[in-house]
Amino acid sequence: MNSILSDRINNMEESATLAMAKTARELKNQGIDIIGLSLGEPDFKTPKHIQEAAKAAIDEGKYFSYPPVAGYQDLREAIAKKLREQNHIREAKAENIVVSTGAKHSIANIFMCLINEGDEVVIFAPYWVSYSEIIKLAGGVPVLIEGNLENNFKATAAQLKEAITDKTKAVIYSSPCNPSGSVFSKAELEAIAEVVKSKEDLVVIADEIYELINFTGQHASIASFPGMFERTITVNGFSKGYAMTGWRVGYICAPLAIAKACEKIQGQFTSGGTGIAQRAALAGLVGDQGPTEEMAAAYLKRRDLVLELLRDIPGIKTHVPEGAFYFFPDISAFFGKSTPENKKIESADDFCLYLLNEAHVSLVTGAAFGAPNSVRLSYAASESELKEALKRIKESLAKLK
Ligand code: PMP
Ligand code: GLU
Repeated sequence: MNSILSDRINNMEESATLAMAKTARELKNQGIDIIGLSLGEPDFKTPKHIQEAAKAAIDEGKYFSYPPVAGYQDLREAIAKKLREQNHIREAKAENIVVSTGAKHSIANIFMCLINEGDEVVIFAPYWVSYSEIIKLAGGVPVLIEGNLENNFKATAAQLKEAITDKTKAVIYSSPCNPSGSVFSKAELEAIAEVVKSKEDLVVIADEIYELINFTGQHASIASFPGMFERTITVNGFSKGYAMTGWRVGYICAPLAIAKACEKIQGQFTSGGTGIAQRAALAGLVGDQGPTEEMAAAYLKRRDLVLELLRDIPGIKTHVPEGAFYFFPDISAFFGKSTPENKKIESADDFCLYLLNEAHVSLVTGAAFGAPNSVRLSYAASESELKEALKRIKESLAKLK
């Protein structure tokens, strides 16, 4: 049957995050008490005032037709204003903004618009699973520069410089980072910006979707640095900070030519994002930020809880994540050990499978994020679930010989 399908799809990896979430959901439906820590999804409900705005938009009856492809003008203006005032991206105007069906869609638009066959894209690794597959789909070649546990999984500007070739078209990172939770400081981003500026026509894609879950209190947008607006595509969205994963609203702020290209491709693929969801997103952006701040405070509390519990498990090595809602511990100390059924743990995949079957806790293998010695644990779950999950993990790992 695979022969009827294109090489394009046959060569594509399934999203490991969504695949693990699907497996966990299926086991749960079979009545197994799985604690899902695999999906990067807030466990909070979308704040009430955003829900109310969506209901009001339905009652107004004005948002049932095709929205403008790049998004409603008032939403684009509000996004541009936020980027100018909060992110210090002074040049941002509505015309630079394209609203899409989630930031994943924004990223797909970007790579489809930038990449020619054989173009290279440097990815700061560990990285979010979908970057590499979308780059390959567009005909590009992902080139990884890797951070490690010792430097908080932050690859450096010097590594970027080394990796750039004649074929390098773009660079992509997320900060706060999925999967490591690390945050690039302003100084680190300034060094990266200098390298980007040293090559003609090189652009950087700054994935800032976890901007509002940052425990350092400092978020730096590379697009705000001198000379960087024309070289940066800032990606953001509402899924994480506003707990709106299912509403599917993301956006870019890009130099005009790139914004127009993204609008063009979106006009052929999907048209404008869902009208009601855009109205809800606007309410999120301009309304009370209290619920967002409360969610961020809750994530910080959970971060500290999980940190304490992880540190109590022999063999697990972790840094302290500064944002997002992930831990990315190094679990290579367990490689070579055997399960009670005498199966060898030889990889992070084996480790995750063992914990799924034995502890009934789902994590995601670091291999999918370009870091095969780690696993990703999402702590977007309740404190009681986290305590129970970490207890089960500890007990199950103690059984390895
Ligand atoms: N970027 C990163 C780093 C992510 O973790 C995600 C996961 N949702 C996305 C982009 C896409 O977000 P969404 O499509 O839900 O807006
Ligand atoms: N971004 C989240 C994650 O990494 C949601 C799933 C996905 O789209 O990958 O788990």
